[in-house]
Amino acid sequence: MTLPTSASAALFERARSVTPGGVNSPVRAFNAVGGTPRFIRSAQGAWLTDADGNRYVDLICSWGPMLLGHAHPEVLAEVNAAVLRGTSYGTPTEPEVELAEEIVRRTTAEKVRFVSSGTEATMSAIRLARGFTGRDVVVKFAGNYHGHVDALLASAGSGLATFAVPGTPGVPASATDLTLVLPYNDRAAVTAAFAEHGPRIAALIVEAVPGNMGIVPPEPGFHAFLAETCRAAGALFVLDEVMTGFRATAQGGWGLTGAVEGWTPDLVTFGKVMGGGFPAAAFGGRADVMSHLSPEGNVYQAGTLSGNPIATTAGLATLRRATDEVYAHLDAAATTISDAASAALTAAGVPHRVQSAGTMFSIFFRDGEVKNFADASAQDEKAYAAFFHAMLEQGVYLPPSAYEVWFVSAAHDDEAVAHVLAALPKAAQAAA
Ligand code: PLP
Repeated sequence: MTLPTSASAALFERARSVTPGGVNSPVRAFNAVGGTPRFIRSAQGAWLTDADGNRYVDLICSWGPMLLGHAHPEVLAEVNAAVLRGTSYGTPTEPEVELAEEIVRRTTAEKVRFVSSGTEATMSAIRLARGFTGRDVVVKFAGNYHGHVDALLASAGSGLATFAVPGTPGVPASATDLTLVLPYNDRAAVTAAFAEHGPRIAALIVEAVPGNMGIVPPEPGFHAFLAETCRAAGALFVLDEVMTGFRATAQGGWGLTGAVEGWTPDLVTFGKVMGGGFPAAAFGGRADVMSHLSPEGNVYQAGTLSGNPIATTAGLATLRRATDEVYAHLDAAATTISDAASAALTAAGVPHRVQSAGTMFSIFFRDGEVKNFADASAQDEKAYAAFFHAMLEQGVYLPPSAYEVWFVSAAHDDEAVAHVLAALPKAAQAAA
């Protein structure tokens, strides 16, 4: 039996006539796995309901934000009360002060500034780093995604220490010719780049744990090495926690794990969970660096809806409920699902590799350790597509790409997890 999809298909057709590809963010379109994206009508807890009335256990969780699950009643009550007080004033408000205090309390950031997307956060952090240092070069790593910032949509140039080329049409060479793109987990490449360009480097930006090529944890000491290399060169170390922040561990930021190794990022970016399902993100860090932002300093940055009262209320309501118990639950659900998926794939003879960071995990459809983007790219995307569709057909909505994290929430209870586990053997067979 196949699930009915006529309502989603009809919506997709309408969407394609008014929106490029029918979606407002590319990966939603199923281009990597084929088929019709399901149009979701509502969501509750761990479950999504689509336009045809099909129900799915959600392993996307809005690409990370829904830490507590969908339509959490207490979060909704706070949001509803906030909506009734008006939705945007363009003035300072109390919820944004409270959310900033909560983030400062739980992370390495001494001060934060709110924006509306992770892209804005990284873009602004880079501008601030350039303004603060008076330098212009930025270093990033292949396979690390920091949003669709022109200067960061870059591919490696012809050699390790050469400047990047645009990663997409529409980005001018002038936007990426101050960007260096290096292989991840490669100390020699970092050393060479800093040896050649050190005095010009304003910042090095890295995902706290890369999750946008699947999970690729830093090798032990790699981020300490990056922090020290930046410090020695007078460059800022920018840790992108848009995905990991308030998600990977009970601590607000993965960067706090740096404390164990003896390093702290100079700047840090957050998004996703901190907005509780609304458009909110932030960048922050050392107070002496942040003080260079206008109006305190002269590095310009602004936003009509920055610190929006509904988004900050939702974020605060979420973070206040993000307790140790929540992270312990996420950890247990993630471990149960990833262990069972691995067992099912092994039984079906499908080469795969599970990698994790705190409560986050992903499954590569290839053998062997994945240390960088080149490794991540060498996977069997066709096998993943078959697996994905077999899961979808059985009521489990996985990310429609082999390069993404499988997200769970506090609402992924025994029933939801059991539903996922029951679907795995058939999906593994389909991938074989
Ligand atoms: N940085 C990281 C690590 C991300 O994962 C993302 C989005 O997935 C971004 C930045 C960009 O965030 P947004 O999509 O909110 O612009």
